[in-house]
Amino acid sequence: DAPPPRSAEILSRRESHFAKPQKNYYTRPPQIERGWKQHMFDVTGRTYLDMVNNVATVGHGHPRLAEAVYQQWSMLNTNSRFHYEVVAAFSERLARLAPDNLDTVFLVNSGSEANDLALRLAWAASGARNMLCLLEGYHGWTVGSDAVSTSIADNPQALTTRPDWVHPVMAPNTYRGPYRGPNSTADYVAAVRPTLDALDAKGEKLGGFICETVYGNAGGIALPPGYLQEIYAEVRRRGGICIADEVQVGYGRLGHYFWGFDQQGVVPDIITVAKGMGAGHPLGAVITSRAIADALEKEGYFFSSAGGSPVSCVVGMTVLDIMTDEELQENARDTGDYLKARLEALGQRFPIVGAVHGMGLYLGLEFVRDRQTLQPATEETAAICDRLLALGVIMQPTGDHLNVLKIKPPLCLTRESADFFADCLARVLEEGW
Ligand code: PMP
Repeated sequence: DAPPPRSAEILSRRESHFAKPQKNYYTRPPQIERGWKQHMFDVTGRTYLDMVNNVATVGHGHPRLAEAVYQQWSMLNTNSRFHYEVVAAFSERLARLAPDNLDTVFLVNSGSEANDLALRLAWAASGARNMLCLLEGYHGWTVGSDAVSTSIADNPQALTTRPDWVHPVMAPNTYRGPYRGPNSTADYVAAVRPTLDALDAKGEKLGGFICETVYGNAGGIALPPGYLQEIYAEVRRRGGICIADEVQVGYGRLGHYFWGFDQQGVVPDIITVAKGMGAGHPLGAVITSRAIADALEKEGYFFSSAGGSPVSCVVGMTVLDIMTDEELQENARDTGDYLKARLEALGQRFPIVGAVHGMGLYLGLEFVRDRQTLQPATEETAAICDRLLALGVIMQPTGDHLNVLKIKPPLCLTRESADFFADCLARVLEEGW
């Protein structure tokens, strides 16, 4: 259907003044006007099922969140140098959500900021600058978080432009990496050793290691069992700090676990979190130990104008209240498992479905042209996403080959909506593309 005439005009105004690298989804995007729970509505009144928006954790347009923001903003919004109760309450609550020794919180405004600050903390606490990160990873857009981002889907130049303190190591991609399946842990750990040995041989110290605890950017692939236990031990043996980027995968989305690192049976030294914790409001946090947090004191004070503001803290508290009262983590587990089973069943019918990665409401459906060679079905994936849009489903590709559907809807997804998504996908695969 042709978009309404004003929509094309508004898009062209966006292209005139909104800087180009800030891409929008789709070549002919619907003009979205409203959101409600797991749905979005465009200006023509058309409904879309939002299967991609991992930020809208509690669902779009949650009245309880809107009311809490309104009340707090009407009363007070200022910065965290002032003394008000909610900043104490929210920090306390985040500390309670983290493992015991991680009881100290910095409040910032995004995942990139959280990761940048985590790097600074690791440098300050270890006294060393070298950082290990994983290939195919993404950690943000700020100078530090971008430096440790290696995903060529996000930045085609990534692998040739990293600063010299960044040491990317092999992506432990158990689906299409050089070592396959759950028994590949030892091989992927061994693949990190040459980098560590090279630093050791030069007498260089290691500042730390940053990674997503479930391989989010690569499509929600679980790290091989025990991988982080071994890598964290190697890093700590060299005095390095282990940073868990939980920006996408943590905070209840995995359903079976609140944090991604729980699934690996490790406790990091620093947790970074954002996205879903603010349900769309700019909110991020770094949770660490008192000793690591205090290491930053040598560099003076830390201050973020809006980080930890009363409104941000109220948003954070209300999101957690809603998650508890509406049992959203449990829903992520149950509806996520149900959806995963439905997607796996599509794999029995359609050879293009190579694998269904992930758990809870963080799933990745990987399309391949050939199940033996695993040749990525990149163009097909783009066409499938376009066709899904026409059927009323918002879905986007991820991964270095852009051949994985990133399935991360609001955590209030219902079984009915999971069925709608799986049925639409079945229809698109039946039609061909
Ligand atoms: N880490 C991960 C794993 C992410 O996926 C992202 C955002 N896609 C970030 C960090 C950066 O977060 P933000 O966009 O809030 O700066």
